[in-house]
Amino acid sequence: MNREELRQLLERLNLRGNHVVVQTSLASLGPIEGGPASLCETLIEAVGPSGTLMMPTFTQTETIRESVPNRNPGAAISHRPIPYHADLPVSPDVGIVAEMFRHMAGVLRSNHPTHSFAAWGRQAREVLSTQRDNNPLGPLKKLNVMQGQVLLLGAPLQAATVIHLAEERASLPYLGRRTALRINAGGYEERVVVENFPGCSVAFDRLDAYLDPNKVHRALLPHGEARKIAVRYLVNLASQVLVNEPRFFICDNPVCVGCASKRAAVGNIPAMQGQG
Ligand SMILES: [Zn+2]
Repeated sequence: MNREELRQLLERLNLRGNHVVVQTSLASLGPIEGGPASLCETLIEAVGPSGTLMMPTFTQTETIRESVPNRNPGAAISHRPIPYHADLPVSPDVGIVAEMFRHMAGVLRSNHPTHSFAAWGRQAREVLSTQRDNNPLGPLKKLNVMQGQVLLLGAPLQAATVIHLAEERASLPYLGRRTALRINAGGYEERVVVENFPGCSVAFDRLDAYLDPNKVHRALLPHGEARKIAVRYLVNLASQVLVNEPRFFICDNPVCVGCASKRAAVGNIPAMQGQG
């Protein structure tokens, strides 16, 4: 895809002036002239100076002290942790687009040790400033209040981090506590206790079956589709589903450590429908 084709594709999604969090599966786009940098530039142009563009630049694979399950269920991380600092590359599973985006001119990055976000645009500073060590999803909550959008460029719903907001809202004992490392303002390594640490999101894909097609803005990609969905709609939908079935976002992988602990945590909550 060349730059002009990319520009036209994003135009079909009406992004101008939107406050949007983007998750990309590069494979769905095929080869892009100019690579991920070109994609980032085109996204910035599409949103424009009145909008805000945000991407997760998570580093939990690197900065966590404990051995914990990562986003690949069952795969435990066991390594010597690297303390978070502003120039720490994103975790490999977060992807090269976010890694490129955090280097772009005018892009800011928050300093959360595991769940930093990078943002560009009018409200970038305001959105990022809502994040606290015990409130990693703060920027997404702000986006919800600002009537922001989730843009999935070929990425599945399991990449939609905003769905964790529904888990938090449901007060289900889903969100954990971890200890991570960070280089503080004085240049020293510090231990940071991270509360409300989001777990496995594989089962978010189940929400596909509940999406109202009229609420999803779509555009075809060379190998998949782009979907723009209002944060508020997606979070409310996930919340409704969780009321009926608190186990809805527990994945089927028997060796997923994160979901095993979720299962234990909601074990005593009666489901109104479905099966545990
Ligand atoms: Zn899982």
